[in-house]
Amino acid sequence: MISSSTEVVSLVGATVLGAVVGSFLNVVIHRLPQRDDQKARGPRSACPHCGAPIPAKLNLPLLSWLWLRGRARCCGARISARYPTVEALTAALFWLLASHPPRPWLSPSFADLWSAATFAFVVRAVFVADLVANTFIDLEFRILPDKLTKPLMVIGPLAAALQPGLLEPFPGLDDVAPQARALLTSLFGMATGFGLTWAVRAGARLWLKKEAMGFGDVKLMAGIGAFLGWQGALMTFFLGCLLGAVAGSARLLFVRDPYVAFGPYLAAGAVITLFLHGDLIELLTVTWPRWQAEHVSSPWLIAGFALLAAGAVLILLRRRTT
Ligand SMILES: [Zn+2]
Repeated sequence: MISSSTEVVSLVGATVLGAVVGSFLNVVIHRLPQRDDQKARGPRSACPHCGAPIPAKLNLPLLSWLWLRGRARCCGARISARYPTVEALTAALFWLLASHPPRPWLSPSFADLWSAATFAFVVRAVFVADLVANTFIDLEFRILPDKLTKPLMVIGPLAAALQPGLLEPFPGLDDVAPQARALLTSLFGMATGFGLTWAVRAGARLWLKKEAMGFGDVKLMAGIGAFLGWQGALMTFFLGCLLGAVAGSARLLFVRDPYVAFGPYLAAGAVITLFLHGDLIELLTVTWPRWQAEHVSSPWLIAGFALLAAGAVLILLRRRTT
């Protein structure tokens, strides 16, 4: 619903900003998992193959990769498709953020200081960018670095307290100041994300003697809960397991390796929850029960789905320990 040229400018601006941030995330993804002695190259962009410095005009997000047709100018080495993928993904996510501003739970009282929408965009952009970096580091290196997961646990509660209207408030606590209530809501979301993932991890260890997920997943879910609240954390975990089970089954079928890095699916679940939480709740609590009531054979369908899901989860839990 673009109604004015200002909105067009802000959408285009957000998308370009996303591509630039994506370009920065590529550096983070490349450097963060490395040991300190490998990082000593300094802040300038260098070719990951031959180490030659990359001139600024060949360092434009997306455009340079297309212009060079995926080959490095210096040594002709193939440039990983990860670079344009991260840039395009971040650009698309920033466009979504700008075009879907949150509906505040309170009327924004922050407007005189800074526009609530701008604040929301910045906070959610940081959150989404962090998730993108975690996703690609986990895919490549099978770790979720503390330097990416722990800041979420600080920024989430801080942002909630600064702009209390952004998080669905925890029920009760009506006589508490909005800032304190939002802070508590965020902290409770963090505890939910942490506790749930920790419990599932501990359960899988105890009963299946398998490492179903790493402690990095636990910390990532704590950070996600801090941004999305406890309902968001539950929804994210549910979606993450669903997506991970589907991907794990597909991997087993096609590459005979059920290993699934869990971080990317939790991150995807968090992004889906960020944009579609209300719609998903509506689907689960209104649309789905109504459909069930209208269709007599629905119990069989549900039983079939449950069997499929159980099989998929078993496949997922068989992942290697590395
Ligand atoms: Zn090179």
